[in-house]
Amino acid sequence: MPELVEKALERVTRCQCDTDSGCFRCIANPRSEDRASKEATISLLNEIRRVFLSQVPVIQNFLEKDGNYEDDEQVACPSCDHIIKSNAKFCSECGTKIEENS
Ligand SMILES: [Zn+2]
Ligand SMILES: [Zn+2]
Repeated sequence: MPELVEKALERVTRCQCDTDSGCFRCIANPRSEDRASKEATISLLNEIRRVFLSQVPVIQNFLEKDGNYEDDEQVACPSCDHIIKSNAKFCSECGTKIEENS
């Protein structure tokens, strides 16, 4: 989907036609009587693209966080001292319920 937006944006911005209503190579739809504004289309596509781009770091952060979590967040069971993941709800050794402390 981001690639499609990128391509559409490129097609509209690179088109050499000089009217705001565009031409058939960029935004004008030959099957539609509606005339879109080229300028409006570009800003709309830019907006969509910005949303896509801003979503990428969020996804990456989430994955990184999740990965680190698995590696170093460990706690000892209060009942039997068995080392378990801090996000575990119960001790895998004795079954004691683990209180969340974060
Ligand atoms: Zn055009
Ligand atoms: Zn335990």
